[in-house]
Amino acid sequence: MTESVIYKNILAGADQQGDDDKDYKESNLADAIRFRMKRDSKRFWAGDNISDYLHDGDKEILIAEATEAFERVLDTLLIDRENDPNSHGTAKRLAKMYFNEIMSGRYDPAPDATAFPNDSADRYEGMLVVRSELRSMCSHHHQPVSGVAYIGIIAAQKLIGLSKYTRIAQWCARRGTLQEELCNDIAREIQKATGSENVGVYLRMTHGCCENRGIMAHDSSTTTSVLKGAFNKDTGTKKEFFDTLSLQESHTR
Ligand SMILES: [Zn+2]
Repeated sequence: MTESVIYKNILAGADQQGDDDKDYKESNLADAIRFRMKRDSKRFWAGDNISDYLHDGDKEILIAEATEAFERVLDTLLIDRENDPNSHGTAKRLAKMYFNEIMSGRYDPAPDATAFPNDSADRYEGMLVVRSELRSMCSHHHQPVSGVAYIGIIAAQKLIGLSKYTRIAQWCARRGTLQEELCNDIAREIQKATGSENVGVYLRMTHGCCENRGIMAHDSSTTTSVLKGAFNKDTGTKKEFFDTLSLQESHTR
């Protein structure tokens, strides 16, 4: 399919939705998607997931568009893309890295978290605390943010597989975020996937934007916590969560 056919299809798709997109004449996919999100008042900040607005094959087209844009950035930085062998494919590498790795949580749908019933007479009623290693990036400087999350939960009527907690947390982290925002996102998505009101999330992260630039701080460890339901209201639950994660921290550090 030629590019012009692809864009005609995009425009046709917009027209079929029966609104006033007919006058819309953009020639690149990123513009077309941005147009649709604005039309729907859909927020598309660096930490937002926009997978509902992407179709099969869109990512490849967006990577091609971002490659051209990164080529312009490298040209403006006066880096010789033609003769420097190490910079030759950099624009494409950057584009692929953003879409498929460091910001993949914006473009990919939520991980499938199959739930199993937890409603028998001997159902598990204790606290579960999962430790997840996370890699993220700050939306201010696009510098790496890395560390660990402790996700605590008191199971409701269903349970999800243990690895799903980490998958959900990583899906939230693979975007441009602020640590405070990331902590909230993980708590909300775990609540959604498990149906449990009682969730606690604690993050300990180091920030590339403090270590590699600015104040060049050697250890920029920052902690945040979001406590929902019993984790917030019940002092016993709160204490058990922080005691458990302290114990886990002392084992793994
Ligand atoms: Zn930053």
